[in-house]
Amino acid sequence: VEYYSSEIETRAADRLTLENQLRYAIRRQELRLHYQPKVDCATLRMVGVEALIRWQHPERGLIPPLDFIPIAEATGLIRRLDRWVIRHGIEIAARGGVDGEGTRVWINISAQSLADERLVELVEEQLELRDVDPGRMVFEVTEREGSVEFRDVSRIITLLREVGCSCAIDDFGAGYGGFDHLKDMAFDIIKVDGRFIEGLAHSPVDRAITSGIVAAAKAAGRTVVAEFVTDKETLDILAGIEVDCVQGQLIGMPAPFVA
Ligand code: C2E
Ligand code: MG
Ligand code: MG
Repeated sequence: VEYYSSEIETRAADRLTLENQLRYAIRRQELRLHYQPKVDCATLRMVGVEALIRWQHPERGLIPPLDFIPIAEATGLIRRLDRWVIRHGIEIAARGGVDGEGTRVWINISAQSLADERLVELVEEQLELRDVDPGRMVFEVTEREGSVEFRDVSRIITLLREVGCSCAIDDFGAGYGGFDHLKDMAFDIIKVDGRFIEGLAHSPVDRAITSGIVAAAKAAGRTVVAEFVTDKETLDILAGIEVDCVQGQLIGMPAPFVA
């Protein structure tokens, strides 16, 4: 009993340490954005980059997002973090994307942050400050917890689109990203969850699920993106069912932006 409870204590203490350090990570300039290219599925022309956050921790090295985003979401820190991402994402867009060609910059926002209207003000203010065309920005929304009021999210999505930005629902078809969102929510882009794409070339089930999602999204007038594309065969299948754009290992993994 002794060592069992001490192990739990160690883990809880560890999480608390990380949580406290995360509070200072923004001010200490420890957050980084890496960028993954997105290409047109038919022409393979680069159409944008997705910004993915990392934490350059002074002792632990580069920490991946899934090791600290859930902590940020549980503590409410996520709002500050997402605001940081918006500022830096728009700054990158102002510099011309990552290729200087003015492609779109896609950034991830937790559904939790979208309950706050001030987020739209921040977006407008930063776009104006850096003189960026709103059409260059896409917001990818993921819901991991199920604790978010859809009406609030949908309202902010509508406001962001009124500003001229696009909004994508991330990880569609898995977890909380359900088909009802195609009917009720103002997203103009659907990102098929990578779990269906990974096995596409070999699994008839994944192929049926993906075709179903694409057909429904297209019927609803949405643009479709596929992630986790790792081989040519998968790319060809996706092109065949008229997926609009793809990203993944086959095209390129996330990397830091070199000016
Ligand atoms: P996501 O937005 O669905 O991003 C896709 C994840 O898959 C990324 O992991 C990416 O590096 C990885 N990936 C891309 N292509 C491939 C591939 O071909 N094979 C494999 N195995 N993996 C691939 P990452 O960067 O660790 O991000 C994980 C999740 O963390 C993201 O999932 C997103 O939900 C969240 N996240 C990342 N950056 C941010 C951010 O700035 N703000 C918020 N709120 N969440 C973020
Ligand atoms: Mg994403
Ligand atoms: Mg995803």
